[in-house]
Amino acid sequence: MSSALSEPVTELPPVSRTALGVAGLRAYESRRPDRLIDDPYAAAFFDAGKALYPAPEPSPVPPEPGQDLGSLFYPQVVVRTRFYDEYLAGAIEAGVTQVVLLAAGLDSRAFRLEWPAGTRLFELDLPGVLGFKDRVLDEHGARARCARVVVPVDLREDWDFALREAGFDPALPTAWLAEGLLIYLSFDEATRLLGMVGELSAPGSMVAFEHRTGGPSTLVEKALALDNGREVTNLWQGGLASQGKEWLSANGWQPTAHVRPSLAQEHGRDTHDEPPGFVIAVRS
Ligand code: SAM
Repeated sequence: MSSALSEPVTELPPVSRTALGVAGLRAYESRRPDRLIDDPYAAAFFDAGKALYPAPEPSPVPPEPGQDLGSLFYPQVVVRTRFYDEYLAGAIEAGVTQVVLLAAGLDSRAFRLEWPAGTRLFELDLPGVLGFKDRVLDEHGARARCARVVVPVDLREDWDFALREAGFDPALPTAWLAEGLLIYLSFDEATRLLGMVGELSAPGSMVAFEHRTGGPSTLVEKALALDNGREVTNLWQGGLASQGKEWLSANGWQPTAHVRPSLAQEHGRDTHDEPPGFVIAVRS
């Protein structure tokens, strides 16, 4: 799919430009015969915004381990996208009808996944990226496969009121997803955000995000050592680091950690690196 935005994009905050990098990787993956995900809008997003993407190579990269941020994170982004697709499918299977994507960025799950009738999906992110996204989607005549509600907010602030105003029902079990977000927040910002998620979560709600155990991330260390990745790595605040599971346990959730390499091997992908992974937690 090519992009043909009538007006060029001129501005996005740096942290939102990272969503373009992720879209570029999903576009690359979607063209592979052995793709783990098929995102029909990723290329359109990337094409429309690539002038703003901070990496020196504004194109989807090949999957070999390399000396740029895109190729370093490519296997991780693909496996993580697939993992969360399956997480959300499992939540729907369990009867959840309310989904909240925290920092939705250019995530097109509302358009590319199957959702049962009655599913309501909220997309939260900064206003600039959500406006850009809707312009591209409109230009391509995209139609959501669920009731999609866009909620422009800063997730470091009090966003709960805006979510409720948009129709979120805290009495319903919710599947929350924070994909590629927490590293851009400080520990205090991340725990404040997750505290608000907990307050809005009826029993049976679920939350998922990236999680690692143990010491420093070798992948993050490699990324920090790259000269050509600074515009992105300078934005990293660390999030919950390796304390996600512990924090969830102490705050009303029952977390389960999922290790990424086994998933990558299962899908025939080499993540080249350490064992970071994901956590999925259920609200008791
Ligand atoms: N989850 C999406 C995905 O996987 O495609 C986007 C991931 S992208 C790496 C990070 C996203 O976090 C961007 O869309 C950015 O705008 C969003 N973000 C970062 N800080 C934010 C904040 N304080 N409030 C709202 N969104 C934020």
